Amino acid sequence: MFQGPFTESILKRAQERALLSIALHNIRDVTTDKHHIVDDYPYGGGAGMVMKPDPIFAAIEAVHQGGPIIYLTPQGRLFNQQIAQELAQEPRLTLLCGHYEGIDERVCQHLITDEISIGDYVLTGGELAAMVVVDAVSRLIPDVLAAESTQEESHGSNMLEYPHYTRPPEFRGWRVPDVLLSGHHAQITRWRRKEAIRRTRQRRPDLFAKLDLSSKQDQKILKELDEEEQS
Ligand code: SAM
Repeated sequence: MFQGPFTESILKRAQERALLSIALHNIRDVTTDKHHIVDDYPYGGGAGMVMKPDPIFAAIEAVHQGGPIIYLTPQGRLFNQQIAQELAQEPRLTLLCGHYEGIDERVCQHLITDEISIGDYVLTGGELAAMVVVDAVSRLIPDVLAAESTQEESHGSNMLEYPHYTRPPEFRGWRVPDVLLSGHHAQITRWRRKEAIRRTRQRRPDLFAKLDLSSKQDQKILKELDEEEQS
């Protein structure tokens, strides 16, 4: 499952440049029984299987060399850009992907140090969630991307990013906003700030409520947005 995302594009180049290294471990490999069993029936009955604690402990203890041990689970704290930034500071992360009904609770109590959910929905397994976390964290590691690319991105400062345009300047009669073709950097910066505020207010009122827009420029932008909305 990991082959595609981890061997393409930016993640591929980051590993080739030794900015990041990703190791995959199959929990079945540490089992000693003939059938490499990693799951069992839940105590108390009910549908589905539960991942056994012993192979998970053995697998993680064999590879863990410090840093958080993160279980991907819909019951974890909701992943966001701030958490990605926090994890990007760690020299090493160990991610555990669950399957079936999940894992034996003793793993969460005595081995796991953090639990992360990538959204309020249930996936079949933790692999896709782990890939999401690895991707989001990797691009924040110094030199993986050009420094400017991540500075203004959505969620970096609780704000959605402004809209982007590229050539041609006119496509099917739809023109790129004049200001972006003007070469006037201060005006472009102001336009982008205004559009970022507009977007965040329209699409993410929860983020908008947290923004500090007390500067003179932002107050003026807000007034303009109000007037534009009313007209
Ligand atoms: N029975 C579990 C529950 O209700 O919390 C869900 C188990 S789910 C079918 C199987 C595995 O997928 C989980 O152990 C977890 O590793 C992963 N998973 C599912 N949804 C996820 C999410 N939103 N974020 C992160 N991991 C998730």
